[in-house]
Amino acid sequence: MQAMVLAQAGERLALEERADPEPGPGEVRLRVLACAVCRTDLHVVDGDLREPRLPLVPGHEIIGVIDRLGAGVTSLRLGQRAGVPWLGHVCGHCAYCNAGRENLCDEPRFTGYTRDGGFATHVVAEAAFCFPLPDLPRASVPGGPQDGLLDAVHAAPLMCAGLIGWRALKLAGDHVRELGIFGFGAAAHLITQIAVRRGIRVHAFTRAGDLAAQAFALDLGAASAGDSGAAPPCALDAAIIFAPVGELVPLALRAVRKGGRVVCGGIYMSPIPAMDYALLWEERELVSVANLTRDDAREFLAAAAATPLFVEARSYPLPQANEALADLRSGRIIGAAVLVPWTGT
Ligand SMILES: [Zn+2]
Ligand SMILES: [Zn+2]
Repeated sequence: MQAMVLAQAGERLALEERADPEPGPGEVRLRVLACAVCRTDLHVVDGDLREPRLPLVPGHEIIGVIDRLGAGVTSLRLGQRAGVPWLGHVCGHCAYCNAGRENLCDEPRFTGYTRDGGFATHVVAEAAFCFPLPDLPRASVPGGPQDGLLDAVHAAPLMCAGLIGWRALKLAGDHVRELGIFGFGAAAHLITQIAVRRGIRVHAFTRAGDLAAQAFALDLGAASAGDSGAAPPCALDAAIIFAPVGELVPLALRAVRKGGRVVCGGIYMSPIPAMDYALLWEERELVSVANLTRDDAREFLAAAAATPLFVEARSYPLPQANEALADLRSGRIIGAAVLVPWTGT
C-alpha cells in the first residue's frame, strides 16, 4: 500500500510504501476510493491536537470498497461501498457508552488520529464503525432536483463535514427557524442545504471581506451572508461556529436571542476572549460538539439519502496531500478538498 505519513507534528507528510495491512478479528480492510481533508487533520498535523499515534496516516472522511474481511465479520461483505468516520472505536462499557453517549467514551479511538486513517490506498477499520453507503442523490445545482448519485469524491466530505455538521444542527435545537453559521467551509456548505430544505433560514457569517464564501452561501440557499463582525439581519434562534476562532464566540452570543444557543462545531478553537456576562445572560447557552455517535452517522446518511446534495469538492492525487492541507489552511478551498489514491476512480 501507499500512505501519506506524519512522522512528527509540524512536519510535512511523506509518501511511504508499506506492506498491505491485514484486518484483525472484527475488522475489515477497505481499498480507499477517496478521503476528504478535514480541518481536524490540520490541527493534527500542526500539533494543536496533542495525542496522535505517531507515525500516523491521517484522514477520517473515507469512502472505500471492502476488500478483505477479518475473522468474525458478518455485518459487511466484500465489494460493498462503505464510509469510515472519525469515531473508530469505543469501549462499550464506560458510563458514557452505557448512557448512549458513546461520542464521549472514556477509551475511544479515532480514525486518522489514534489509529491510521485514509490518506492511503488502503485502511483497516473496525467493522462496527464502518457504514454501508446508501445511494446518495446528487444535485448538479444547489437546491436542484436529483441528477445522478454522488461519486466517492463527492461523498467523502459527508463522513465528517456532513456528520459533525449534522450533530451540530441537532444540538442547535428542534425549533430553530433563524440559524447563524459562522465559518462557511465544508461542513457549512452541506448542512446549509439540509437546514434550508427543512425550512430553516440560514444566515452565513464569514471572515471579513470573503465575498466568494458569502456568494457561495447565498447560492446554497442562505437567506443572508455577511462578515462575522456584522449584526445579523434578525435575532437568531441559534448559531453554529465551524471556524476554529475563539473571537467568534462573543459575536455569536451577541447575535442569538434570549434563550438562544451557540454550538461550537470544531474540535479545536483558539482562546475565547474575556467577555461581558451580559452576552450569556438571559439563558443563552454555549455548547460544544464532541465527535459523533454511530446513531448520528446512520441518521445523517438517511437524511443525505433523501436530500439531493450539491457537493463542492476539489480532488487531489494522494501524493499532493500537503498541497491540499496548505490550501485548506489558507482558505483557498471552497467546499471540500478530497484526496484520491487511485487514478481513474
Ligand atoms: Zn473531521
Ligand atoms: Zn466507552
